[in-house]
Amino acid sequence: MTTAPSSIEMLKRLVAFDTTSRHSNLDLIHYIRDYLGDFGIESTLVPNAEGTKANLFATIGPRQEGGIVLSGHTDVVPVDGQPWETDPWTLTEKPDGNLYGRGTCDMKGFIAACLSHVPAFQKARLKVPLHFAFSYDEEIGCLGAPALVEKLVGAVPRPQAVIVGEPTMMGVVNAQNAGGGIIATFTGVEAHSSMTHLGVSAIHFAGDFIHWLNELQVELAQRKRTDIDTVPGHTTINVGIVTGGTAGNILARECTLNWGYRTLPGDDPWEVQRRAEQYVAELLLPKMKAKHPDARIELKRRSFVPGLLPQENEEAAKLALQWTGGNRTYAVPYGTEAGIFRGHGIPTVICGPGDISQAHQPNEFVAKAQMDACDAFLDKMTGWATK
Ligand SMILES: [Zn+2]
Repeated sequence: MTTAPSSIEMLKRLVAFDTTSRHSNLDLIHYIRDYLGDFGIESTLVPNAEGTKANLFATIGPRQEGGIVLSGHTDVVPVDGQPWETDPWTLTEKPDGNLYGRGTCDMKGFIAACLSHVPAFQKARLKVPLHFAFSYDEEIGCLGAPALVEKLVGAVPRPQAVIVGEPTMMGVVNAQNAGGGIIATFTGVEAHSSMTHLGVSAIHFAGDFIHWLNELQVELAQRKRTDIDTVPGHTTINVGIVTGGTAGNILARECTLNWGYRTLPGDDPWEVQRRAEQYVAELLLPKMKAKHPDARIELKRRSFVPGLLPQENEEAAKLALQWTGGNRTYAVPYGTEAGIFRGHGIPTVICGPGDISQAHQPNEFVAKAQMDACDAFLDKMTGWATK
């Protein structure tokens, strides 16, 4: 029988694949498929429409209800322009006890621990199945997971709980914000900048929109909640990318804003988009069209990540707390794929090695002790699954 590498050895292999979201993840997915195949485990691939990326799921143990889904995303954020001290695609252990490399904490560490446990899962006499669910394009708006979850839920008997292994320092997270990403495209009419009456600047109206978002942000911050322990405890808005314009002396024809918002679990996740659409339709676009009838504004949803409500995930939290030995749950402000699983009615928690403050940073690392804690968690889970 094939022997498995340790979690850290496996992490070294996974980090070496540059799975930045803009690239294909197929090399990594095929590696995992072949690795599982060596243990006689069959993988199901769920590709994207272009066939350039794929999700993967696989089952170990009996085909029956009550299993556990171990979920992770295979893509990582870019390293462009970040001051890395080591090669981001080579796992580097330093004397500080940390393992450096892109994706170490977000979130190949968890996937590596799961894969290295495959022989242990097989050797154990599992009474319920363990499922792997590995996605693509989480980092650019959870684009891969919806199809993965849909396929998995249709293919396997109903699982009992999902563990999403995003970095939580192995704490059990049962609540998370919802989030939406929107592209706002402003189309104006070009004119010489000395003849402002002849055209309409897309950039100036995009500026009005940003100003409106700022005011909305101030209003929403006043509705701060204390019943959920996330910081800052209210809806947040961010304009992440602004593009547009041709020259300093031309009224800009186009301006695009890539912006988004995050709402607390339980708050209306559609409010910001609805109010933005209303503002554009009733106030901003009429003002723009008054300058020139050809002016246009389009708001297009780029992504949506559903939130996670604590009371809907108690069963999963109870199990995960057993395996971590923890005694409390946490809420987080960032989005993960957890809400997508919960949307299919499966209790879901987030629990994985590493610190979220390391994620997306240069010199990202996971502490070796965190990998050990994740190994111990999976060992306890295995024991539970044999009872
Ligand atoms: Zn992540």
